[in-house]
Amino acid sequence: MQAAVSRPAIAAKRRRADNLSATPHLAIADDTGLLSALPIAAAVIEHAADGCFKVAAHNGRFLDLVERSNCTALDWNEADCLKAGPIAEQLRTFFDGTDTAGELDFTDGDGVSAQFYRIKLAPLPKRGGCEARCLLSVVDRTVELQAERTLRAEMLRDSLTGLPNRLSFSEAIEQAGDKVARDLEHAVLVVDMLRFSRINESMGSLAGDELLITFARRLILALRAGDVLARTGGNEFGVLVSLRRGVEDALKAAERIQQVMAAPFRLSELEIRVECAIGVALMNAGQDPEELFRNAQFAVKQAKVVGRPQVYEPKQATEARRRFSIETELRRALDKDQLKLFYQPLIDLKSGEVAGFEALARWTHEDRGEISPTEFIPVAEESGLILQLGRWAMDTAAQTLAGWDRDAGEQLPLYVGVNLSAIQVARDDIAAVVASALKASGLTGDRLTLELTESSIVQDPVRATRVFDALKSLDATVAMDDFGTGYSSLAYLQRLPIDVLKIDKSFVSGMMVDADAVAIVRAVLSLAEALGMSTTAEGIETVELATTLATLGCASGQGFYFARPLPAEAALDYWKSRRR
Ligand code: C2E
Ligand code: MG
Ligand code: MG
Repeated sequence: MQAAVSRPAIAAKRRRADNLSATPHLAIADDTGLLSALPIAAAVIEHAADGCFKVAAHNGRFLDLVERSNCTALDWNEADCLKAGPIAEQLRTFFDGTDTAGELDFTDGDGVSAQFYRIKLAPLPKRGGCEARCLLSVVDRTVELQAERTLRAEMLRDSLTGLPNRLSFSEAIEQAGDKVARDLEHAVLVVDMLRFSRINESMGSLAGDELLITFARRLILALRAGDVLARTGGNEFGVLVSLRRGVEDALKAAERIQQVMAAPFRLSELEIRVECAIGVALMNAGQDPEELFRNAQFAVKQAKVVGRPQVYEPKQATEARRRFSIETELRRALDKDQLKLFYQPLIDLKSGEVAGFEALARWTHEDRGEISPTEFIPVAEESGLILQLGRWAMDTAAQTLAGWDRDAGEQLPLYVGVNLSAIQVARDDIAAVVASALKASGLTGDRLTLELTESSIVQDPVRATRVFDALKSLDATVAMDDFGTGYSSLAYLQRLPIDVLKIDKSFVSGMMVDADAVAIVRAVLSLAEALGMSTTAEGIETVELATTLATLGCASGQGFYFARPLPAEAALDYWKSRRR
């Protein structure tokens, strides 16, 4: 700490300064004029022959600053020479030419009472007997820097919980990353409070805030010294832990977190249980903090599915990336009309003739080759692209059948089955999509079978009922696809206008080896009969299956035994070849 400038010394300087400015000496009058015109604290410094830095003139602001700040570095002695200190040092280098910037930031004092100054030096023409002169101006930056610090602290803090925020957490990870090089392992845990938005909605945001604060407090209980806790999102917290025994320590931390969350939370009058999903990512040397955090977030997603803490595995992320790139490329393929519809014959098991076709999407990717619909349909469903894909399939299938009619010059005794995803049922106006396909192709509704799955009923039975009814009013046939693999209740089966049950291929292919599978197929067949529905068996791969199913009374079937899904032209040829 530097010694304070004594008050009487300042008073003496003020008196002398008054005398100086009253002196009718041209040089001083010039300097004083210059200085008093300046809006900041400034002084003219002369480099005297004896090496001292003489305060030749100064303005009132300069004196005020010296007085207010008690800063010795700015003070000068009885001989008007600046006292030794950072400023005198700066002047030395300025005058001897080694410092050309002429700028110096310096701090006076420390802690909360620290003052921050920026001084600037600008050369002045020589005058009288001095060696060199300069203008020294001082800006007190204390308030400015304090505001900057407060702002920065605010920027790094979550205002609700008082914890470090996402930005600050990234900085903490980065700092820890430097230590990885020194053999200290770290892991990032992302803790996601489950069902938070529902609590927030039903109990109000105040209660939600209270819950977040309590949740954060409990998290602190699960930490060990040196761990960093941050609120990284609405209901998401990050924990940075150092590890002694690798992943085991990270999983122990996750276990401690789950233990502290086990007891119910009190919110107003209610006691609620709060569960959390925890994702863990281990830090590698030189890893980008953002990447590490994203890995832990990825692990959280997995943890939500699995129901226990998950450690990030790059393999799963590779799969997720593949899905993501499939999404991007599927979007492009749809826009460029690169998907094809193939048609798999549906055989009337009694007559052996082709009764109709199921339209199935096919995608041959330029680089990846054939991509199965079992891979791209779920991606399309997740991304919403299924709406576009579904409309395309509906229009294309109807156009193909209408084209066959046109070429034959008559209406062929065939129908086409089109798959509808549960997402389409939930989000699209299916009836309008079907109606528009019928209108554009000129087909009547009875030429279309729409294959829906049980999941479209389970999600929203009321909406499904409306959609099924609308499809019936267009005269279309409704088939329940993959029957037996979903969870639809028999009540809905009875209530909804379903015409056909398609028995899932898992039961059909099991029939030859598994007595239970036969029992299930029989049960489905008699259920269909009781409800007045027709049946189609999927996955008929052998002649034995075809005959057994025909004997059991199954109306129609499809499978590799008859034909694989075929391009439109080949499908029509196949129909012709089986005509009696
Ligand atoms: P799905 O609707 O149950 O279609 C029947 C699936 O069984 C087709 O698979 C077909 O190629 C396959 N299959 C037919 N016979 C046999 C057989 O004898 N043995 C075996 N192992 N498989 C047989 P695919 O074409 O791979 O389609 C898979 C699923 O993708 C379809 O199942 C359907 O749910 C969906 N999908 C295909 N195209 C579309 C579409 O345009 N829209 C929608 N929403 N879904 C589609
Ligand atoms: Mg189908
Ligand atoms: Mg099926």
